[in-house]
Amino acid sequence: MIDKISTLGGYIHEYQKSVENPQAFWSRIAESFFWRKKWDKILDWNFTEPKINWFLDGKLNITENIFERHLFTRGDQPAIIWEPNEPNDENRVLSYNELFLEVKKFANVMLKLGVGKGDRVAIYMPMVPELAIAMLACARIGAIHSIVFAGFSANSLADRINDAEAKLVITSDGAYRGSKIIPIKDIVDEALENCSSVEKVVMVQRTNTEVAFHDSRDMWWHEAMVNADEDNKAELMDAEDTLFILYTSGSTDKPKGIVHTCGGYMVYSAYTFKNVFQYSDGDVYFCSADIGWITGHSYIVYGPLLNGATTVMFEGIPTYPDAGRYWDIVNKYGIAQFYTAPTAIRSLISMGQKYVENKDLSSLKVLGTVGEPINEEAWHWYHDHVGKNRCPIVDTWWQTETGGISISPIAGIIPTKPGFATLPQPGIQPIIVDGDGNELSGKSVEGNLCIKYPWPGMLRTIWGDHERFKKTYFSTFENLYFSGDGVKRDEDGYYRILGRVDDVINVSGHRMGTAEVENAINEHPLVNESAVVGFPHDIKGQGIYAFVVCGDLSTGGEEGIKTSIRKGVTKIIGPIAKPDKIQLVRALPKTRSGKIMRRILRKIAQGDYSNFGDISTLLDTSVVEEIIKGALEGV
Ligand code: ATP
Ligand code: MG
Repeated sequence: MIDKISTLGGYIHEYQKSVENPQAFWSRIAESFFWRKKWDKILDWNFTEPKINWFLDGKLNITENIFERHLFTRGDQPAIIWEPNEPNDENRVLSYNELFLEVKKFANVMLKLGVGKGDRVAIYMPMVPELAIAMLACARIGAIHSIVFAGFSANSLADRINDAEAKLVITSDGAYRGSKIIPIKDIVDEALENCSSVEKVVMVQRTNTEVAFHDSRDMWWHEAMVNADEDNKAELMDAEDTLFILYTSGSTDKPKGIVHTCGGYMVYSAYTFKNVFQYSDGDVYFCSADIGWITGHSYIVYGPLLNGATTVMFEGIPTYPDAGRYWDIVNKYGIAQFYTAPTAIRSLISMGQKYVENKDLSSLKVLGTVGEPINEEAWHWYHDHVGKNRCPIVDTWWQTETGGISISPIAGIIPTKPGFATLPQPGIQPIIVDGDGNELSGKSVEGNLCIKYPWPGMLRTIWGDHERFKKTYFSTFENLYFSGDGVKRDEDGYYRILGRVDDVINVSGHRMGTAEVENAINEHPLVNESAVVGFPHDIKGQGIYAFVVCGDLSTGGEEGIKTSIRKGVTKIIGPIAKPDKIQLVRALPKTRSGKIMRRILRKIAQGDYSNFGDISTLLDTSVVEEIIKGALEGV
């Protein structure tokens, strides 16, 4: 098993070793896994082609590292605890033995359908245990899973299926989301009208929704599983064989099919899970993400299960039946580590204190966030009301591309600071460069966040488009992986993510992260959330345009609120950050993963009400129409 870092000194020591001799460092970590054949060479790389290979010629199967490796000691221990949408419905607990059996059976079902090593399988499913079973069964037989979040439209699903040329689609009849039932299979049917690569569709029965059944193509999961063979030998995989493809959330551009491989991803997701969350035997861990995102891949399924942990999978939404649902789950299972996104925290704050106040959250030890910069107000609320001032918050910065957490506190070990992702994980060598690629060394600097050395969990390519891979990540700055994010290193050497570089605004020569200004706006008691973008300004170069969501406008009226927001920002950051324009809006345009699509707001702020590019990942397009209407009426 992986040894946990347990002191600050231990972290510093490990970090130094990981930088001085990365290959020896990762070789030691990788030793704790089960390899059918050990690697001949640890690493072969250059950032120019670019080519990144880890554990060359090593042979393994990631599922043997989840199951065979743990069964002697943990066969009866819960692997997955599944909490259904309805709190009073029966939950499901799958021990490692039980989960393993299901995985082997479904692996055999797929083999029988003619799906094998290297084939792509699209998974479009609600958060039910069969989703995890399907993905692990793919890994078992060496098929490449491409999981598409089941909130996407038929068009978006079709794009992803076609890009990966998937042979099989795994789905369900319907999905429960709070009080709604979503007809998942209908969406798949619509998508498949335009997908010629798909041969078969396997469907889990979840909602008993009526579905169109295409005899030659469709089959039920439960029927296929009845006579499935219970024995299955894992496919032998090369360390560099593709484990999965996952499309990015598309907040900045057309989604990219990020490719992760078997060996490196396994080592990195497992190592970071254990350390960052300080998972101990017996802990029950809960990540509220959807498995359709990288967070769910690495920190609901692979990272926890590779460590023999107990992981909770939640089918529903945070506000059903009421905004106390997460806290009820924490109490029900005695959750030790809870991991969520700032957008969820902000929405729970706006629902009021009463949902969290009287809950017993004494089992919690660690809180985590991911996905966007967390504003300080939300950080403090999370810390005070959920963590009751005793749980460290790990503000984890990483990307679909990095495969695992890259800059983050280690819970209880690296001291936290609100709004800061703090320090790099061992093996991650961040470097800050200016627009010309010159390194900005030392403390109190700010610029583009790059990484200068490979780590095992990093992406290897963009599916089917190595040129785009090179262009997106390795062409902006020579010999560096460019994250696309802006960052500041403060006087303590701590990293604070400023948001996308495109979102850094320059007002009269002062560079500001949008996150910083939003932070100040969100401090206003009536503000639920906000998004800030720059717009062309004759005198200042760029002006600040703030889109603000308020809870209650009765006190003070619109103008009163705008005035007090400006006052607040002036007080917190200074007059330079005072928004030139404030537009009060009902909601912000968000991706289905809950991220603000600032590029749309930037267009609107510039007075361009069309040309929004690919908006297929937008949750609700009517929000955009309303904002345009408001902008036209004058701000
Ligand atoms: P696309 O690349 O298609 O625009 P995306 O970047 O939103 O989509 P993800 O890979 O899910 O897709 O998100 C990674 C990004 O999320 C990071 O680059 C960063 O901007 C933001 N992010 C993630 N975690 C944090 C964090 N802890 N603090 C600040 N920002 C974060
Ligand atoms: Mg991105």
